[in-house]
Amino acid sequence: MLNNSDELTRGGDNAAWQARKDAATPRGVGVMCGFYAARARNAELWDIEGRRFIDFGSGIAVLNTGHCHPRVMQAVERQLKSFTHTAYQVVPYTSYVELAERLNRAAPGRHSKKTAFFTTGAEAVENAIKIARSATGRSGVIAFSGGFHGRTMMGMALTGKVSPYKLSFGPLPGEVFHVPFPSALHEVSVDDSLAALQQVFLCDIDPKRVAAIIFEPVQGEGGFNPAPAPFVAALRHVCDEHGILLVADEIQTGFARTGRMFAMHHFEEEADLMTVAKSLAGGLPLSGVVGRAEVMDGAAPGGLGGTYAGNPLSIAAAHAVLDVIEEEELAARAMVLGNLLRSKLQGLMPRVPSMADVRGLGSMVAAEFFNPATGMPDATFALRVQRSALQRGLILLICGVHSNVIRFLYPLTIEHEVFEEALGILESALLDADPH
Ligand code: PMP
Repeated sequence: MLNNSDELTRGGDNAAWQARKDAATPRGVGVMCGFYAARARNAELWDIEGRRFIDFGSGIAVLNTGHCHPRVMQAVERQLKSFTHTAYQVVPYTSYVELAERLNRAAPGRHSKKTAFFTTGAEAVENAIKIARSATGRSGVIAFSGGFHGRTMMGMALTGKVSPYKLSFGPLPGEVFHVPFPSALHEVSVDDSLAALQQVFLCDIDPKRVAAIIFEPVQGEGGFNPAPAPFVAALRHVCDEHGILLVADEIQTGFARTGRMFAMHHFEEEADLMTVAKSLAGGLPLSGVVGRAEVMDGAAPGGLGGTYAGNPLSIAAAHAVLDVIEEEELAARAMVLGNLLRSKLQGLMPRVPSMADVRGLGSMVAAEFFNPATGMPDATFALRVQRSALQRGLILLICGVHSNVIRFLYPLTIEHEVFEEALGILESALLDADPH
C-alpha cells in the first residue's frame, strides 16, 4: 500500500507546505516538526523530501508496536473488506465484545470487569468521570498538579497545567480540585501530597461528596514522574475510607510501555476504573474505560457511547496489537530497551552537567534538565537537545510542567541497530547542547 516511496516523496517541498499550513490551519494546533510525513515503517519515518528520521516519539506514545506493523495492517485490511461502520449502538459486532473480554482479562485485578470503547483519550477520561459520578451519586473529582487528561472541557479541568492547555478556554467544569503530585526532584514528598489531599477535604469538599480520584501511575505530559508505591497505597486507603473510586489514567502508560502490560501491574493496589487509548490500536483511534462491573453499570442505557465509539477498523487493529504484544514479548523488551537507554544516559551525566535526573519505569524513560548555575529547571536546554537531535534525524518529545524534560517513546518493536543508531545521535545532541 505504502511501499512506493518514490511516488509519495517525489516533488515534496516542506517549506511550501509550511506556508500552506499556516494559511489554512489555526496556530492553536501547534506543530513541532517543519517537515511532512510521507511514509513510516516500525521506528523509521520518511518525509516528503525523502529525509529519514528515527521516531522516538511514536506519535505521542501511540506506536508501542511500531508504525504499520504488518499484523496490524493485515487486520485492518481484512476488516476494511467486511464493513467500516455500523455504529455499535445500532448494529453491534462481535469483535467489540471480544476486545472487551480481552481487556477485562488483561487489566489488573481478579474482580469482574466490563469495558466500554470510545475514540480519543480525552473521551475515555470524560466517560470515566461520568461513570464514577453515576455509580457513586457524587460529583467531586480530585486530580493532581502536572497531570494531563486531555483537551476537552472535563479533560482540561482535570489537567494540572495551565499553559497552554487551559489558557483562555474557561469557565471550566466545577467540583475539580488539584493536589500536588509527589516528586522528589521538585521537593514534594508523599506526605506533602497526602497532607494537601487532607487539606482539600478540610477546606474545599467533604470527602463523602467526592466521586473519584484520578491519577496517572506514571505522569506522562507532566514529566514522566512515577507514582511512589506508598503513595498509590495511601490513595487506595483514602478511597476505601470514604467510598471514593480510584481511576488510573493508563492512556500513556499502557500496553507494555512500562515493562508490564499496564503500569498498575507494578503496584499491589488496584484501581476501580482505568482509562486506555494511544497504543491500544497501533495508530488507529480507539480508547476505552475498563472497570469494576458494578461501577461500569452505573450509567443508564444510552448514557455512554458515541457514533464512532469502538470503530470496527480500530477494534480490528487493537486485537492485532494485543497479539503482537504477547507474541513478541514486548513487555520484556520494554525492560531491556529501557535499561539500555537509562545506562546510556546515566553514563553521560558527568559530561552533561545540565542533566539533573534520569528516571523511568521500563521504557517510559525521561531525562530532566536543570541549569547547574542557577539550579532552576532549564527548558531552553531541553529545546536545544530536541532541535539538535531533529537536525540529526531523531524525533524526541519534550514534557514536564516546566517543559524541561525529554521523554523517550520509541516503538518497543524497534530493531536493535536502529536503537543503537538513535542512542548515538542522542549522545551527540546532548553533548552539543551543553555549553559547559
Ligand atoms: N490522558 C493521558 C495520560 C494522556 O497522556 C493523554 C494524551 N497525551 C490524554 C489523556 C488525552 O488523550 P487524547 O489526546 O487522545 O485525547
